[in-house]
Amino acid sequence: MSFSSDVKKELCTVNEKNLCCRRSELAAILLFGGDFSGADVTVKVERTDVFKRACGLLKRVLGMTELQKEPEIRLPVEKLDELGIYPDGAGVSIDEEVFDSDCCKRAFFRGAFLMAGTVVDPHKNYRLELFAYNETVAALASEMLESFDLSPGSIRRKNYFVIYLENYEAVSDALIIMGAQKSMLGLSYVQIEKDISNENNRRNNFLIANMDKALTVSANQCAAIDKLAGTGMLETLNEGLKAVAYARAEHPEMNLNELAAVTGISKSTLSRRLNKLLELGNIKNQEIEK
Ligand SMILES: [Zn+2]
Repeated sequence: MSFSSDVKKELCTVNEKNLCCRRSELAAILLFGGDFSGADVTVKVERTDVFKRACGLLKRVLGMTELQKEPEIRLPVEKLDELGIYPDGAGVSIDEEVFDSDCCKRAFFRGAFLMAGTVVDPHKNYRLELFAYNETVAALASEMLESFDLSPGSIRRKNYFVIYLENYEAVSDALIIMGAQKSMLGLSYVQIEKDISNENNRRNNFLIANMDKALTVSANQCAAIDKLAGTGMLETLNEGLKAVAYARAEHPEMNLNELAAVTGISKSTLSRRLNKLLELGNIKNQEIEK
């Protein structure tokens, strides 16, 4: 199931007790899904759980107990007065005072999302969108989100409007506003996973960079040892230096710790002798270049 679908499923379980908020949620469902052009308002509801929730709201808010035939909800236009919705020709006018309190704005946003919202799988991106077929409705939804300190973007397409939020904080806030706490937690887990994975990548890059550095150092030491061996100077060195030179030449891939472990020589002594070999090799180099 998609993340969007999970969110809608969760929102359908929100137990809304306030009549004012029930009214607000129902109004949003109608405004975002309704066709106001006929004698009756019709709303096509794709999801069964949303359909059932909408029927419950019709009953509780408007006292409508008539059986609705899934997926379409139908109600007489006169019923809309009670919701502050007034169809006028091609559009609608809305009495915004009906949704003025904070609790009702949350409920309105929930109804809008249930009808016309999507949220992208957070593994891919953070983006929540609402689609509205009416400019007044789109503007109202934007205003409501702004009243929660969100900054929604909006795009006008050919015959509809998209209102969107597009970062982690905004999507997370929007889920809380609607009442999808569980989904919000899901979102934050994904964000934590991403943080950890970024942190691991940083650490791996750091380790690789260090390994590269260690290998470059080793390569320089080996080149110096080769030089000393090639000029016969290696055999003239003391036993300690010779032992380290052979060990390094045999294990160019090892770091200082590993080399100390296989030779049984302390790290500080190893380091000193390797530096000495480097120095002697460089002197040999310079002599040859002269
Ligand atoms: Zn309310």
